[in-house]
Amino acid sequence: MRQEVRKIFLEFGIQNPVFKLNNNYNKIGLCYNNNTFEISRISFRYNNHQGRMALIGHEIAHLKQFNHSKKFKEVCDKMEINEKEMLPMSRYILFCPRCKYWGRLNVLKKTKYYCKHCKEQEVMVYQHKK
Ligand SMILES: [Zn+2]
Ligand SMILES: [Zn+2]
Repeated sequence: MRQEVRKIFLEFGIQNPVFKLNNNYNKIGLCYNNNTFEISRISFRYNNHQGRMALIGHEIAHLKQFNHSKKFKEVCDKMEINEKEMLPMSRYILFCPRCKYWGRLNVLKKTKYYCKHCKEQEVMVYQHKK
C-alpha cells in the first residue's frame, strides 16, 4: 500500500513524502508541521482513485493551512481537490478481527454483525467520522 500512497503524493508533485500509515477509523489522516503525514490505511483502502486524490490532497493542503477555515477551502479549490469525491465519512465500517474482512454500512440496523466469511465471528463496528 505504501507504493500506492507514494504514487498519489507524486501526482501532487511531492517526490519523497515522509508518511506513516495508521489504522485509524475515525480520521482520514494527519499532517504535522514538520511536513510529515499519517494516512489511515482504512480510508485509503476503501476510496477509489478520485477519493484517494481528495484524501491525500486534503492532508497536503494542510501544509499551507492547518485548520479547516475558509482559507483552507480556498487552498483546496486551487489544488482542485474535491472533497465530495471522498466517500462520506459518517458511515460505519465493519471489521473482522479474524480474517481482516472489512465492509461499509450506511445505517446500523442490528446491534451485532457477523463476518460473512467466518460466520460465527462477530465483527467490530466503527463509526467513520471526519
Ligand atoms: Zn483536515
Ligand atoms: Zn472474518
